Amino acid sequence: MQEVRINVANIIKPRVELVLTWGSEEFVAAMTDVVYRAYPIEDALRRVRERPELVSRRVMGFLRDGHHSVLEFMGASWLIEGSRAFTHELVRHRIASYWQESQRYVDYAKGQLRYVLPPGLANEWADHLNNASQAYMRAREDFAPEDARYLLPNAIASRVWVQMNAREFFLNFIPLRTGLGAFHEIRLIAWLMFDSILDKFPITTKWVWENLPKLHSDYCRGIDKLSNMYGTSDCRLVSIKDAFSKWGMETPQRLIKFIGQA
Ligand SMILES: Cc1cc2nc3c(=O)[nH]c(=O)nc-3n(C[C@H](O)[C@H](O)[C@H](O)COP(=O)(O)OP(=O)(O)OC[C@H]3O[C@@H](n4cnc5c(N)ncnc54)[C@H](O)[C@@H]3O)c2cc1C
Repeated sequence: MQEVRINVANIIKPRVELVLTWGSEEFVAAMTDVVYRAYPIEDALRRVRERPELVSRRVMGFLRDGHHSVLEFMGASWLIEGSRAFTHELVRHRIASYWQESQRYVDYAKGQLRYVLPPGLANEWADHLNNASQAYMRAREDFAPEDARYLLPNAIASRVWVQMNAREFFLNFIPLRTGLGAFHEIRLIAWLMFDSILDKFPITTKWVWENLPKLHSDYCRGIDKLSNMYGTSDCRLVSIKDAFSKWGMETPQRLIKFIGQA
């Protein structure tokens, strides 16, 4: 049997890569003139390009007035690597599309077993993960990957390609999963996803940031205890500081700049 030794190289941090975005605030704003005023699409686009303030006014109006279905015409997809504990929470969001690494078709006996967990726990639990890895490798001698995977812990890394429209992402996923009651790993990943599209949907990201605690009634769960620890009672800042510090990661510079300007 191949000896598997877990070292820090096998323990990784969550990763978020923006794959693509579709639609734009400009296009949604332009379509207002197409749908309500029968403009040809090209003319409508030319109009909002000549008057960019129209884009801001219209998108802000849709957000404020609850005309949220128009946000479904834009969105993004990300390639994410996180723990299986995280991906199980992610896939509960039904208004999204997923393509996830299969534990039946990926034979971890042929490659490296990777785990995702915060540095504090990684140091503490490396031996447990090593034991789980040994058990998996032993099981693979007599069993198929689909059976051997019963022995894999929640910390096993999993890649998932996820696509969400902007309504689901900004008005449901981000409020629920950056809220202080959310699991720190999904909170970290939600902020990394948010950071990755700041430049793509600038009006929506700004409005959502400003309104975030109002978009989820339990957004600030436990803030009384946490505000002393993080030196602020702004639940959004506590959420960011807590998630990134737990994972020993730097807050992305783009997100810091955005917060400063918002
Ligand atoms: C802090 C926290 C703790 C949690 N704890 C638990 C837990 O202990 N156990 C557990 O099982 N889950 C738990 N969850 C998961 C939670 O219950 C939801 O499954 C998850 O957050 C997805 O939310 P959603 O249904 O709004 O999202 P989506 O599935 O993406 O749906 C988006 C929106 O679409 C609408 N929608 C979608 N499907 C339907 C439908 N069938 N009928 C009507 N409207 C629909 C709703 O308005 C919904 O809000 C927790 C979530 C959070 C944030």
